[in-house]
Amino acid sequence: MMTSLEYNYDLRDEVKAKMKEVEEFCEKNVKQNAIDADAMNVEDGMNLMNPIFDEACKRGYNAFDVPKEYGGLGYTKMESVALLEKMSWYDAGFGITISANGLASGPVTIGGNDEQKKRLYEIILAGGIGAFCLTEENAGCDASNGETTAVKEGDYYIINGTKKFITNGPMASYYCVFAMTDKSKGSKGYTGFFIDKKVDEVEGMSIGHIEDKMGIRNSQVSEVVFENVKVPASAMLGSEGEGFKIAMKTLDVARITCGATALGICQRALDEAVAHAKSRVQFGGPIANNEVIQFKLADMNKATETARQMVKYATRMYMDHVPFSTEAAMAKCAASDASAYVTQEAVQIMGGNGFMHNYPLEKLYRDCKIFQIFEGTNEVQRLVIGRNTVK
Ligand SMILES: Cc1cc2nc3c(=O)[nH]c(=O)nc-3n(C[C@H](O)[C@H](O)[C@H](O)COP(=O)(O)OP(=O)(O)OC[C@H]3O[C@@H](n4cnc5c(N)ncnc54)[C@H](O)[C@@H]3O)c2cc1C
Repeated sequence: MMTSLEYNYDLRDEVKAKMKEVEEFCEKNVKQNAIDADAMNVEDGMNLMNPIFDEACKRGYNAFDVPKEYGGLGYTKMESVALLEKMSWYDAGFGITISANGLASGPVTIGGNDEQKKRLYEIILAGGIGAFCLTEENAGCDASNGETTAVKEGDYYIINGTKKFITNGPMASYYCVFAMTDKSKGSKGYTGFFIDKKVDEVEGMSIGHIEDKMGIRNSQVSEVVFENVKVPASAMLGSEGEGFKIAMKTLDVARITCGATALGICQRALDEAVAHAKSRVQFGGPIANNEVIQFKLADMNKATETARQMVKYATRMYMDHVPFSTEAAMAKCAASDASAYVTQEAVQIMGGNGFMHNYPLEKLYRDCKIFQIFEGTNEVQRLVIGRNTVK
């Protein structure tokens, strides 16, 4: 029988087989380990999860949409979104680690030259994963307010500054970094650089504070510090001053995958709530027999499916090369707000057990919150949607 995900995303047979492989991998390696790692301190959690990330990347789960001409599988965005939703069902931290590779590779696929794309895809196909370095202490929502500088010296640029909250910072094989080549120009003074090496292979680059987070604890987030880091001018993405535009275009695409990851949380919370409602007996029958519980489940299902259609709609627009910024912002908002709502209701349906660490709902409830904050807060998404709506 066709499952709802296969039908929803209209998967080809090859991708259905890949979905099955991914499910088997996650069932065996991610499902329980993700819960165990979530309960550990940051370092022990990383030690448990790192070999699993390595194995997933060796199997190419970080590389579904690498184009065929570069040696990849060439899956469509819709297909990789479906696979991401599935991986995130098992653990959103796992899903974000994989999808942050799409965020990190975006500046190269959008603004890079052919040589840079070739190197990027070689790294990814060899199992490498990347980090997107934009945010700083004083440049959060106001991303154009960066203080990291890149000063030209002959055929090189010297980068100085600290990037904050960088997903995959400690484990990345390549970094896309945005730095000011002319601060006086504001956002037009930003330039992007593609550093195709691990932190410890680049003199002056280091990992700063590693964050201890409320949710998606299996996604590694840190500062990335640049102290007189000398990069060749050939590492520049596009031209000087194009960095902000490249970063914003990258974030448009990333909002779709951010939405897909939040959908994984919605579906998992719904599935757990349904299973509990059918097995938990009170007043002589399963609580699922109560209309109140069924109405909750109905609204949770409706919110999940509505958000999924919005994620798919934005994905379709992206694939059709039509402007999709507004729809990507709507999809990200809808899916993240749905995940907050659905997990909250699922905890309620679980009763006291929903509040306990040894049941998965409590983790989902923590995992979902970040989706309303990163890749542009939902307030900023509403600014984008509102501005375009008025236009
Ligand atoms: C776990 C995690 C992973 C991350 N990964 C990455 C990454 O890989 N790469 C990267 O570059 N960054 C990353 N970030 C950074 C993330 O994108 C920022 O945290 C986010 O953009 C918000 O910035 P801020 O935290 O500084 O909040 P602030 O900008 O300080 O905002 C605080 C509050 O004010 C609101 N606000 C601000 N300005 C306005 C306005 N004009 N109108 C209305 N409301 C406003 C915000 O919506 C928010 O509610 C990550 C963050 C986290 C927590």
